Amino acid sequence: MKSFIDIFSAYDHHHVREAIEHASRAEVERALGKVASGDVLVDYLPLFSHAADEFLEEMARLSYAITRRRFGNIIQLYAPLYISNECSNSCRYCGFNIHNTITRITLTLEDTMREAEILYREGFRHILLVSGEHRGKLPVDALAEIGLRIHGKFSSVSIEVYPLKEEEYALMAASGVDGLTLYQETYDRDVYAAVHPAGPKRDFEWRLHAPDRAGRAGLRKLGVGSLLGLSSWRIDGFFTAVHARYLTETYWRSQIQVSFPRLRHAEGDFATPHPVSDRDLVHLICAMRLILPDAGLVLSTREPAALRDHLIPLGITMMSAGSRTEPGGYSNPEGAGKQFEIEDRRKPLEVAKSIMQHGFDPVWKDWDRSFIA
Ligand code: SF4
Repeated sequence: MKSFIDIFSAYDHHHVREAIEHASRAEVERALGKVASGDVLVDYLPLFSHAADEFLEEMARLSYAITRRRFGNIIQLYAPLYISNECSNSCRYCGFNIHNTITRITLTLEDTMREAEILYREGFRHILLVSGEHRGKLPVDALAEIGLRIHGKFSSVSIEVYPLKEEEYALMAASGVDGLTLYQETYDRDVYAAVHPAGPKRDFEWRLHAPDRAGRAGLRKLGVGSLLGLSSWRIDGFFTAVHARYLTETYWRSQIQVSFPRLRHAEGDFATPHPVSDRDLVHLICAMRLILPDAGLVLSTREPAALRDHLIPLGITMMSAGSRTEPGGYSNPEGAGKQFEIEDRRKPLEVAKSIMQHGFDPVWKDWDRSFIA
């Protein structure tokens, strides 16, 4: 059975780079003319080019129109719940890097439920369980137990943990977990090898294949993304779109989501090699919407409040709010090491209010697992 690794390997990466670097105005105009109808993804390559920069206004207008047509005026809210900051990897950009000296914690089941209760009382019904990647400290059985305990309370439970085997994703699904978020970080193999010098995460293909395994196991939300700033956002953006489009066509029962995490300051001294400006971020979000009209587009509290407010109309459909990035952070802020610093520090209700002030409806629940029962 084919997987995304086959699709990805078939691309001539040199050609992709050249096409993005050297696209002309006319090629961008042709790509814009194919929006929502082109079926060959290379046709969209010019949308990521420098030449497309001057079409940003038109791209934003199209992105707005497509998003409203498909999703209406809603922004769905969710919250991350960090279970553990233990990690066996040495990702150079991350505060949880095994070599960083931070206070390490893995929450017990009861601690996790206490955190979940706080989020529930704040109004959240969609929750993302996040952890560092350490099978020993957070085994699959423990995750399954959390899923079983938590899913009665929340209408949607997703995980952002180490890549699992297909049968382990099936166990997650049977335990009430319905979604996966797993960033490839970068689709550039050389950069990937350089920033992941040791640990299980060095295995580029095992990670690349994970959304396939989750889709086959029946998870109904599959989220992908690149860590913006590690490599060229234009090239990583294109391959993220290719990945999301492949998942949309292959796992048609699942909703595909794309996130736009920009590198933020974390413990350690890693400097962002390819900074992504606010304008670049808007460009990327709009290009993604033009290529993926049905995908959920996700923006986290990594971004400052003013920028998040500005991005609401441009294609985003999901936002986190009130996030803490340390395990136990909702009941005991600063009690453990954070993954990264967040920028939007508003409380969930303030975010919801701001969404309404922009003419949109904040939605705490738009999914229920009874839809797939
Ligand atoms: S990015 Fe993930 S895998 Fe890498 S060090 Fe951080 S938590 Fe661990």
